[in-house]
Formats: sequence, C-alpha cells, structure tokens
Amino acid sequence: MLERITVGRGACGLCGVAGTVFYLEAEDDRGRDVTVPVCERCGYAVGKGSAVLLALRTGRAKAAKPTKKPRKRATGQPGAIAPYVGPSKHDVSSLVPADKDLVSSGQPGAMS
Ligand SMILES: [Zn+2]
Repeated sequence: MLERITVGRGACGLCGVAGTVFYLEAEDDRGRDVTVPVCERCGYAVGKGSAVLLALRTGRAKAAKPTKKPRKRATGQPGAIAPYVGPSKHDVSSLVPADKDLVSSGQPGAMS
C-alpha cells in the first residue's frame, strides 16, 4: 500500500532512465520498506494501468479507451458481382506465346 510520494533525482526503477523521479514509498505486507523511483513517463503509464484496473473493477472497460464509431455497412453491393463488360472472349487472343521454340525450350526468356 502506497504511503507517500516524494520527488528527487535518480534512475527510474521501471525503465532505467536517469532524471527527476518520484519515489513510490510503501511498506509491503511483511513490513518491509519498498521504494520504487518512477520517471514521468512511467508514472503516466502506471496511471493508465490504474485506470484500466478501475474500469475492469467497475465493469466499464469501454470507458477506459475512446470508442470508435463502428463503420456503417454498405447499403448496396458495390458491384462485386458486376457483369462482364470487356470485349467478347472470342475477340481476345491467347496469352500463351505462339512461338513454339520459346515454349519447348523450358527456359522462359532464353534465346539462343
Ligand atoms: Zn521510467
């Protein structure tokens, strides 16, 4: 249980960055003194963690983070099954090269 917070200079006990820190001084359940130096950034992170715990305890997990509006479903099918509009299939030539030498060589692009 946290008893008090003091401010000083030192290395953060969570991320190791040296600078201005505050000390979480507490006494554990066995009566031992526990002091954890915490930098500003880690302190904010700890606060956010506390907010998550509070939200979980009160059953309002969604209140901990901003909710995004759900995307509206498209009202109509956007032509996923649109009819074929290209040229007639009989007017398009084959994609297989007509040159039989290139096909039989087994090595695409190999020209001898
Ligand atoms: Zn830190």
